[in-house]
Amino acid sequence: MSWPGLESKPSPIAGTGLFATQVFTSGQKLLPYLGKVIDSPPRSAPGQPTFILEIKPGVWIDGQTENNLARFANHSCAPNAELVFDEEQKEAWLIARQTIPVGEEITFDYGFSLAESLFHPCQCGQANCVGKIIASPLRPALLRHLRFSRPRD
Ligand SMILES: [Zn+2]
Repeated sequence: MSWPGLESKPSPIAGTGLFATQVFTSGQKLLPYLGKVIDSPPRSAPGQPTFILEIKPGVWIDGQTENNLARFANHSCAPNAELVFDEEQKEAWLIARQTIPVGEEITFDYGFSLAESLFHPCQCGQANCVGKIIASPLRPALLRHLRFSRPRD
């Protein structure tokens, strides 16, 4: 399976990743995030796949379908792409946030809640990695939570 300028292959972050085979510029559309649109939040549990994403408040997309190449894109705490919902086309797309050189892995913010993050460790390897897959606005709250829940000595 392929999409112009992109390929899936083993990733240093997790499992299979999505990689650029051409240069993308900031703001450029990468590929659609295909799947079933649902109006109730996912139930999080350990070891479950991470293909259900909130594409706008109160709307989720389940990207676990064979033809959704974008499902291979990993989460990162310093992503080079973002998931944007096109209201007119009713489609979610991955869009480049910056220039993406050939060979670079495509990553975006999965936007997980605090509850979801507890089941999903992050191994993005970025200097600012918080160790959990969690929406960027929630990261300071997560770090405070982890600091105060450390066992006392
Ligand atoms: Zn990370």
